[in-house]
Amino acid sequence: MAGNRILLKISGEMLCEKEGFGINPTHVQDFAQQIKEGLAQGNAELAMVCGGGNFLRGAQIAGDEIGRITGDNMGMLATIMNALALQSALERAGVETRVLSAIPVNDLAEPFIRRRALRHLEKKRVVLLAGGTGNPYFTTDTTAALRALQIRADVLAKGTKVDGIYSADPEKDPDAEFFEEVTFLDVLQKRLRIMDSTAVSLCMDNSLPINVFNMKEQGNIVKFLSGERLGTMVV
Ligand code: UDP
Repeated sequence: MAGNRILLKISGEMLCEKEGFGINPTHVQDFAQQIKEGLAQGNAELAMVCGGGNFLRGAQIAGDEIGRITGDNMGMLATIMNALALQSALERAGVETRVLSAIPVNDLAEPFIRRRALRHLEKKRVVLLAGGTGNPYFTTDTTAALRALQIRADVLAKGTKVDGIYSADPEKDPDAEFFEEVTFLDVLQKRLRIMDSTAVSLCMDNSLPINVFNMKEQGNIVKFLSGERLGTMVV
């Protein structure tokens, strides 16, 4: 692990069954338990951005009836639901947590204020960054890159279903080659689809390393948070 302030991006689908919908409380609980153990073993300061694809993606729902901007707004609201579920599970596990939202939902979450986020991190609270960037036409990958830079994270970690970056999709191609380290340019030029190109470019331009690792492998979140090197580094 590159440093001890981590921004962990997880997709909404990590909270539900494969290709499923909504939230599976067992996944969320297991996830919270692993975060608790990992934080206790290591010395990490953890902020998280969770996607909303388990409920809805703006580009997918957009059409004649629901416009793209409304779809994206709905997608951003979905990320707030996920953050609240994670907060609840983490607090039940005994981990102090704050949700900071880019969209004001004052009864449910604090507004995203950079210095406030930093203060929570210093106090070892897990900071859940919800509501995306607050703007349509962005993704939560880009949100994660932006917020990682704003909070001066040492690394942007992306928890996925595969072990890291391969030359091809390992679920489809058994000959896919695994890479321990790749450059940002490799990711962009070879179109290794770990994150959208806006997010990767933002990290490249600001020298923020990305660590892609398998979050579905039992125990990996604990290992990752306690400092073990996992997956692929993009540098
Ligand atoms: N979204 C947005 N602006 C943002 C972040 C997210 O409009 O800054 C919307 C967009 O519609 C996106 C949805 O929220 O499809 C859910 O986020 P994402 O698709 O990144 O979730 P994931 O695939 O990571 O679960």
